[in-house]
Amino acid sequence: MYQLSKAPLLNAQQIDKRLESLAQELKACDFDIILSVLTGSYIFTADISRRIACPNLQIAFIKASSYGNSTESQGKVQISGIEKIEIKNKRVLLIDDILDTGNTMCALVKTLTELNPASIKTCVLLNKESRRTVDYHADFVGFDIENKFVVGYGLDYANDYRTLPEIWTLEEV
Ligand code: 5GP
Ligand code: MG
Repeated sequence: MYQLSKAPLLNAQQIDKRLESLAQELKACDFDIILSVLTGSYIFTADISRRIACPNLQIAFIKASSYGNSTESQGKVQISGIEKIEIKNKRVLLIDDILDTGNTMCALVKTLTELNPASIKTCVLLNKESRRTVDYHADFVGFDIENKFVVGYGLDYANDYRTLPEIWTLEEV
């Protein structure tokens, strides 16, 4: 059994403030396309992309799953939806919700590289550095957090909690 922490780890105002500065960093990079990893990053992607607000910036969504209904990664990453997206010679910004073991980002960057983009940079809302099992660092990070399972602001546990505006820790009871 799990329950939400008593107070949010990051409230809406803290998220807003960080996104504002992150968007300025991203704006300076002149990306051609954002590739957003569903489903966890849907809110982050919407909020950050409208702050970048560049008329020629395209957006596309791909799916990567490794978790099922567990809070522990199952290691193998399934990727879908990349086939239909024009990536060749484009400056790609890959956006995910959270960098945990690093398996997902590593697998995605490897797959995308084979499609010959002009460049690939990665951006995650949350980074759990202590959980890393592969040597991987995102180019842009919203917040560094401790090794806790978090939900809200797009992130789920068994598909619940995604629509909460804040980021919460899920605690075992
Ligand atoms: P990695 O492959 O880096 O271990 O895991 C990345 C994926 O696992 C993320 O895209 C996210 O879907 C999921 N994940 C990792 N940590 C958490 C967490 O604390 N909360 C939630 N909801 N998902 C997580
Ligand atoms: Mg994910």
